[in-house]
Amino acid sequence: MKTLDQFDIKGRSALVTGAASGIGLAYAECMAEAGAKVTLTDIDAEGAAREAQRLVNEGYEARFGVCDVSKLDQVAKVFDEHVHAYGGCDIAFANAGLDVGNGFWTPEGDRNPDGQIDVYDPDRWYKSIGINLNGVFHTVREASRVMKANKQRRGGSIVITSSNAAEVNEAIVGVPYMAAKAGVKHFMRHAAYELAAYGIRVNAIAPGPFVTNIGDGWVKKNPAAKAAWDELVPVGRMAETYQIKPLALLLASDAGSYMTGAHVMIDGGMQLGPVKPL
Ligand code: NAD
Repeated sequence: MKTLDQFDIKGRSALVTGAASGIGLAYAECMAEAGAKVTLTDIDAEGAAREAQRLVNEGYEARFGVCDVSKLDQVAKVFDEHVHAYGGCDIAFANAGLDVGNGFWTPEGDRNPDGQIDVYDPDRWYKSIGINLNGVFHTVREASRVMKANKQRRGGSIVITSSNAAEVNEAIVGVPYMAAKAGVKHFMRHAAYELAAYGIRVNAIAPGPFVTNIGDGWVKKNPAAKAAWDELVPVGRMAETYQIKPLALLLASDAGSYMTGAHVMIDGGMQLGPVKPL
């Protein structure tokens, strides 16, 4: 099979969680640009509706759904609606996530008194795990349910957004975020093992620092903080979201047909260590 033909996803359908902004929006654009029908889901109904409409206006086939990934029944509903609209589900991105804040370091590089384990707010911990870890479980659970029932094609591809924080101690993000993403990584590995027999591949993308609205968009609002981050990354800059699209298409399409259980870093070399200490 010719190389570029393996990236062809025309006629397939994809559902993305957390698609109103940032990396999830880039996944949704990528799926649409490559010819798939796409459902953009988000807890932000207005944002998901706006971005789906924008894609439709640009000539793509897109729709939106509303769900909080920490609620299993809401996740199940958007998958059922997607299958009803598009006749099946070939590709799913378990992407929605957030940093609840209170990292060990503040963004300004000071030690954060509220970020230490002995005083860490348990409700922040439960919220982070509920979205970043339980939300991925809910999405993979429902994606595998509908993919096992796929009628036109056997199997599917599930892509999870992990983080470089699954691998390294990134003490500027809250400690539950690192715990959740490490949990995501190992859950992904088991899901890949279990679902291989059904032709369903499961992989994770582990981004380093991308310019998005995460953390209330603090790097967008604060050029000094962004400049400080740029200096930490070995390639010399934070990433823009379009840079994740080729990797997303590789994993989602038949081009990644022999890839499952992979935790793929796209981090400008951050895993190698920051260029200077935080
Ligand atoms: P973002 O804030 O730009 O986008 C996240 C989207 O998820 C938003 O539209 C938000 O409304 C939605 N969302 C939040 N909570 C939700 C919930 N409970 N249910 C459904 N949707 C919800 O942030 P982003 O940076 O694009 O984050 C996307 C993913 O990338 C997250 O899993 C994040 O952990 C991961 N990530 C981001 C970076 C980075 O540097 N930006 C690095 C590593 C990993």
